[in-house]
Amino acid sequence: MADENHELKFPLDFEQCKVCGSTELVIKSLIDKEKAKGKIGADAKPALMTLNALIADMRKPMLAPPVVAVFVDICAKCGTLRCVHAEIGTAKVQIKPGQLLPPNIPFIKG
Ligand SMILES: [Zn+2]
Repeated sequence: MADENHELKFPLDFEQCKVCGSTELVIKSLIDKEKAKGKIGADAKPALMTLNALIADMRKPMLAPPVVAVFVDICAKCGTLRCVHAEIGTAKVQIKPGQLLPPNIPFIKG
């Protein structure tokens, strides 16, 4: 996950559940089935939820700050809620000090 300089290499993928070792995921498997039937668009995110973390100091103005999108799903074997994927991109917003931002910042994949 990190190189010799301890820099993270995105995207990060966590294939196996740390608890039971399974690679099966509840929401991803259901979404993939519906995608195969053509009921859900191919661009739908295959996860329970994504959490977008803005990497910025909200006291300073910043144009297009970095955003990390974390995909969370449920292990189909043991039920553990876990991170399956994390990718970095750039926020589609400009930060002005003191501004309120939506909880899931829209972003462009890096
Ligand atoms: Zn598990």
